[in-house]
Amino acid sequence: MANKKSGIMCSMCGAIDNKLNPVVTVLDGLNLCTDCIKFIDDARDSQLKNQDSKEKVVSSEVSSVPTPREIKTFLDQYVIGQDEAKKYLSVAVYNHYKRISQGKGADDVDIEKSNIILVGPTGTGKTLLAKSIARLLDVPFAIVDATVLTEAGYVGEDIESLLVRLLQACDYDVARAEKGIVFIDEIDKIARKSDNPSITRDVSGEGVQQGLLKLLEGSTVLVPPNGGRKHPEQKMIAVDTKNILFICGGAFDGIERKIASRLNTHVVGYGHDEANRKHQRENLMRYVMPQDLKSFGLIPEIIGRLPILTSLDPLDKTALRRILVEPKNAIVRQYKKLFLLDGVELEFTDDALGLIVDKAVEYKLGARGLRSIVETIMVDAMFEVPSEPVKKFTVDAGYVQAQLEKAHFEKTRIEG
Ligand code: ADP
Repeated sequence: MANKKSGIMCSMCGAIDNKLNPVVTVLDGLNLCTDCIKFIDDARDSQLKNQDSKEKVVSSEVSSVPTPREIKTFLDQYVIGQDEAKKYLSVAVYNHYKRISQGKGADDVDIEKSNIILVGPTGTGKTLLAKSIARLLDVPFAIVDATVLTEAGYVGEDIESLLVRLLQACDYDVARAEKGIVFIDEIDKIARKSDNPSITRDVSGEGVQQGLLKLLEGSTVLVPPNGGRKHPEQKMIAVDTKNILFICGGAFDGIERKIASRLNTHVVGYGHDEANRKHQRENLMRYVMPQDLKSFGLIPEIIGRLPILTSLDPLDKTALRRILVEPKNAIVRQYKKLFLLDGVELEFTDDALGLIVDKAVEYKLGARGLRSIVETIMVDAMFEVPSEPVKKFTVDAGYVQAQLEKAHFEKTRIEG
């Protein structure tokens, strides 16, 4: 038990016992003044608090990473079809965040990061998949177009600029950014022009791939806080990319030929009718392998850093129709909600939905076009209905046709 003797000195700070700061003997030979006792208490408290929050962070990360099945179920609510891609993504994302939250185990097995590459036609849900995963995990997310990136020193954005977007997505909270997701779109556009390494390096292709490699591998990168070019006098933010998940997407137009030649089939080519060729093209995409990406012009080092490779299916009419109505934030659902806010029940007949899909296919607009078609159709109704005493508004095929003709929608047709 502590006792107090007068005239003694604090063993820690040397203060002499006095009324304002009394010194007590805590152990035989150890005297402490009240100030030092308080100091030790505070230090211990804050250490405990720190330890507690560290444990909380680790455990919340572990427990908050949904299982692959849960991830897929979540994706199903927003993305139609693409089951194969969803499965690959769910497993990769689960492993990635499990790896981050567990750190290096006692057995010294360091689980390597598995970035992902999604191959599939434009407008089939690549960005949507990546965006939905970021939403589920509540991690910072940035979309970057690979075509704007150039090798340092050339006109365009430095490779590091893609980390600026990520930092901006989380108010420059570096720790959060370091666990974020970056979606690099149009990765196929930085393929080098031929399979053989070039003698003269091409600015937009191989050089950018080399730069990107550094980020994909995981390294500490100095990022100019406001993007743009680096200036020697500018203060840089150090970002470690070790735990950032990179998801790359690309249409890789023409890769089917590489796949076909690898598989030794000459299905894509001549002598078949267009529908048959299209069908074969779609099927071939499912057999995409890393060596096809190499034949397409990605450097082997990049391919090595994108070990999870999966393809997306083109969207047929059935899929487009489901996209119109099924996802949680489907366009038709959004309009129904808007009308309901005015106390009006909105209905789309089956024929109307069918015609909208047909138009999207006819005008080669794909899933992206569904929204613009529906917006064109609905503008008059959105204008009139709030000021009319209607309780129900029905959109049928006749109304769709009339509205599209009125808006000269066929002018948006993309030739080709
Ligand atoms: P990309 O494959 O070119 O990245 P996006 O993911 O950007 O295509 O898709 C464009 C839009 O089309 C999305 O915002 C979404 O509205 C719709 N879309 C595309 N594919 C799907 C899908 N499989 N399920 C639901 N919506 C989709």
